[in-house]
Amino acid sequence: AAAQAGLYTASDQIVILSPADVEAVLWNSSAATVVEFYASWCGHCIAFSPVFKGLARDIKEWKPAVELAAINCAAEENRKVCTSYGIRGYPTLKFFNAYTKAGGNGTKHNETFSLDFPRDIRGLRHKIIDQLENHAEPWPPACPPLEPTSQAEIDSFFETNNVRHLALIFEEARSYVGRELTLDLLQFENIAVRRVLNTEEALVSKLGVTTFPSCYLYYPGGNFTRLKVKAEARAFYSYALQRLPGVVRSGKPAPVSPDVLNNNTEEVWRPFNRSRVYMADLESTLHYSLRVEVAAHTVIRGEALISLRNYIAALAKYFPGRPVVMNLLKSVNSWLQNQTGSEISYEAFEGVLDNAAQSPDAALPEGQRWVGCQGSRPHLRRYPCGVWTLFHVLTVQAKNAGGSDPQEVLSAMRSYVHVFFGCRLCAEHFENMARESLTEVSTLSSAVLWLWSRHNQVNNRLAGDLSEDPNFPKIQWPSPEMCPACHTAKTNGDHLWNKEKVLAFLLSHFAANSIVKDYLE
Ligand code: FAD
Repeated sequence: AAAQAGLYTASDQIVILSPADVEAVLWNSSAATVVEFYASWCGHCIAFSPVFKGLARDIKEWKPAVELAAINCAAEENRKVCTSYGIRGYPTLKFFNAYTKAGGNGTKHNETFSLDFPRDIRGLRHKIIDQLENHAEPWPPACPPLEPTSQAEIDSFFETNNVRHLALIFEEARSYVGRELTLDLLQFENIAVRRVLNTEEALVSKLGVTTFPSCYLYYPGGNFTRLKVKAEARAFYSYALQRLPGVVRSGKPAPVSPDVLNNNTEEVWRPFNRSRVYMADLESTLHYSLRVEVAAHTVIRGEALISLRNYIAALAKYFPGRPVVMNLLKSVNSWLQNQTGSEISYEAFEGVLDNAAQSPDAALPEGQRWVGCQGSRPHLRRYPCGVWTLFHVLTVQAKNAGGSDPQEVLSAMRSYVHVFFGCRLCAEHFENMARESLTEVSTLSSAVLWLWSRHNQVNNRLAGDLSEDPNFPKIQWPSPEMCPACHTAKTNGDHLWNKEKVLAFLLSHFAANSIVKDYLE
């Protein structure tokens, strides 16, 4: 029988359990694990799945201490596993302590979550912290201490801890911000986070703290400064602390200076402004896409041919290029639309691309000259950075030009990525996201915002990956420094994007007249 399709995919940062790996994941793991036992046909499970996915993104940085996993009990092959954990109703959440032992003695698992658990991200996050605080020995080794600190501990802190920054979160006992941040930063070096209760009078009066929560940076010798943030809330502290000098992901090389970049990269480093978009990146992307990536298909037919047609059509319509490049894209487009056969050869397509001799005012510059997409190593950034940039630009141009079909650009992108994008795993992840939510896009503005938010989902998933350039950490973009108005905090402290302001920011950031023309041939 066909396997029952589950509610989660490989893109969700949730471990999908099967009978073959359930023991390996749940038993003797160094992380505590929250497992959702669900049935894919159950309405409450379907309704809960976006929350669980959102939780996975929200606490992604906690992974070495807390993992999320899920198992579909509706799949027949999983029935025995679900029965052995006593699952009777769906969804059920169970919290497995780190180093849970198989059967017999030892804590098998902690059942407190059970069927009665919060159905919102914030509530679940707090519940997980409660569970961690009550965690039996042995404590998950990656999990830093969560209990409040004291003057005495701070006094000797730098004798026993080799970190550059100590961030103190002053807060009331019922606040979770300090513990959340401790976990949010657990994968970063050169920084430690401790919570200080407002009742810790010695420290409160020494630093003159009057706002709870608030964050102070404390240094050896007793110097301290207050961390300046737009709002006294988790997300704002987290953005700011991750950017402190010397703070890097564990095991990652530190960011390097431009002089070092000149020695590291095969070409001379091109200085650029990080808050701008460069035409050289867009042209390099077109060059690589059309002359290298598409070239992998010697014969283009069927879905690939439709895909290439739509991609070129979108480019001819919305690419804000120099006149020579636009002339070329338009002539490639009309050539493609005129091909009535069921297939074309790449050779023929390449002939049209290179046929600049026919018309000297139509050409696509050859070669790659990365600027805003330069990486601190030759294998980092570049083309995939260019692809994202190109598609953001196109969705914004479609909006500014008043295109008629809100999904035109995104469908072209989806199908280009699906058929041609060389990174096959990326293509699979992107297709999962598109299948899940592209139908939500019903206006040109929502297309711009859809791509922005899915790109942030990818950033969230890739933060800390090998492909991350230490000089360009993956953040939820744009940062509060880049767009202060884009970020707000709810009264409960949860971060909230101001979508209207984000849209305005994107429309201006990727607008044709904001694109910098430096470094063009
Ligand atoms: P990129 O993520 O490439 O971003 C480029 C620039 O866009 C940034 O420098 C910033 O200025 C801006 N930007 C950042 N976030 C946003 C946003 N939310 N909205 C608008 N602009 C933004 N790699 C994998 O390892 N696994 C994958 O599954 C994967 N999937 C991918 C899917 C697609 C469709 C694409 C195009 C790429 C994918 N990649 C994947 C590659 C990865 O996303 C990055 O492109 C690559 O790691 C280079 O990262 P970067 O630092 O240059 O920033």
